[in-house]
Amino acid sequence: MNTNRRDFLTLTGLTSLSLALPRSLRANTTPPHVLVIGGGFGGATVAKYLKLWGGNIDVTLIDRDASHYACILSNLVVTGAIPISRIQLGYGNLKTKRGVNIVQGEALSVDPASKEVTVKIGNDFFAYAFDKLVLSPGIDFINPAGNYNSDLTPHAWKAGPQTLLLKNQLAAMAKKQTFVMTIPKSPYRCPPGPYERACSVADYLKRKKSGAKIIVLDANASIQAEPINFGNAFTKTYKDVLTYIPNAAVSEVDSSTKTIVTSQGTFKGAVLNVIPNQRAGQIVANAGLVNDPTGKWALVNPLNYASTLYPDIHILGDSQGTGQPKSGHMANSQAKVCADAIIRGFSGEAPDPSPVTSSACFSPITSKTASWLTASFQYDPVTKAMKRVEPSFAEAPRPTSDGMEQMFHWADNIFADSFS
Ligand SMILES: Cc1cc2nc3c(=O)[nH]c(=O)nc-3n(C[C@H](O)[C@H](O)[C@H](O)COP(=O)(O)OP(=O)(O)OC[C@H]3O[C@@H](n4cnc5c(N)ncnc54)[C@H](O)[C@@H]3O)c2cc1C
Repeated sequence: MNTNRRDFLTLTGLTSLSLALPRSLRANTTPPHVLVIGGGFGGATVAKYLKLWGGNIDVTLIDRDASHYACILSNLVVTGAIPISRIQLGYGNLKTKRGVNIVQGEALSVDPASKEVTVKIGNDFFAYAFDKLVLSPGIDFINPAGNYNSDLTPHAWKAGPQTLLLKNQLAAMAKKQTFVMTIPKSPYRCPPGPYERACSVADYLKRKKSGAKIIVLDANASIQAEPINFGNAFTKTYKDVLTYIPNAAVSEVDSSTKTIVTSQGTFKGAVLNVIPNQRAGQIVANAGLVNDPTGKWALVNPLNYASTLYPDIHILGDSQGTGQPKSGHMANSQAKVCADAIIRGFSGEAPDPSPVTSSACFSPITSKTASWLTASFQYDPVTKAMKRVEPSFAEAPRPTSDGMEQMFHWADNIFADSFS
């Protein structure tokens, strides 16, 4: 492995060796260095707010991609309602307006003892030292058994090329053909998201591919979010085109023949959209931080999102296992709690003892209407866990055209709050 600190400094545009050294080896006046892995909703927000609220803190944000494609609104890219450029979010504002060091590279491993992360940039490897590390890498997949290949049967559950692949496959469907999709076992990224996709695709098929059908194979026993609005959509609005099958656990996928075997039977489609079961991003597993009872997510202290294993490593967003929903809005909310706690910690202060987080998801139900879902959580000192605030847990009374308009305003706000 080529660990070259001088090259690392050149690449990040840093002017001194200080950030590459652990704090214990640096002068007391050197600002602390927070390294953030993953520039999605959790990572971009924590980087921004560390600079905005923290003053003299060096913040480096590392993402494998040059820009981030938001999953939010991505079902509308699949149906061709909006272009993919609408969900492409760059890091320029975080760099120029906020002073975050932006690095494009793949984080491979974390050494909690020496407080270093190994990052692959191009064909070279670099060691990045940190005082505090924040991991917000989103999800990775537990691939189904069989001959599964997401290049043939896309998940489109990480936005970007996969979104365009599914869009093209949908557009190429002939009339009277069948679109088959799966819904993973909970918990997964964006509880209403798969049902939203089913509605968006059903609406598209009704308008553009006469006689075509969609089969929705849900690994869960029932609809996992907005049961009234999605239930009405499935049984009324789309009753002629959509078949919903609960308790359909996937046992095998053959992507080459677009065939799927489930506990409810075998299905074949012109398009097969398999959204596999999910777990914390691979770097969290590589760091040895997956420690919840299911073996999929990272346990953290919800007062500061520090790992229960290493207090200087924080885990946010979809990868954490506090039981809060895995949404972009929630990742943004957790990132602010985390940034505030890290800043307080550098001054020797305790974190806010009663943090609140919140989330909203808007879901297109037809091409002209959308519904919404909201939830807030508050720290419960007795259980030391985040507890849902019941009055805040609600779904829209019905999908409306106003909801569709509000959805775009809400998305623009969360994009700006996280990336600008
Ligand atoms: C179809 C769909 C619709 C959705 N709609 C909504 C909605 O309406 N509202 C809502 O709030 N949420 C919505 N979500 C959920 C939301 O997109 C996720 O919950 C959110 O993106 C999670 O944020 P995160 O920071 O955990 O991960 P991400 O935002 O996915 O960011 C992870 C980043 O980490 C990078 N990365 C990962 N590993 C590494 C590594 N080893 N090295 C370098 N970089 C790495 C990735 O490139 C990525 O940029 C939706 C999701 C889907 C799929």
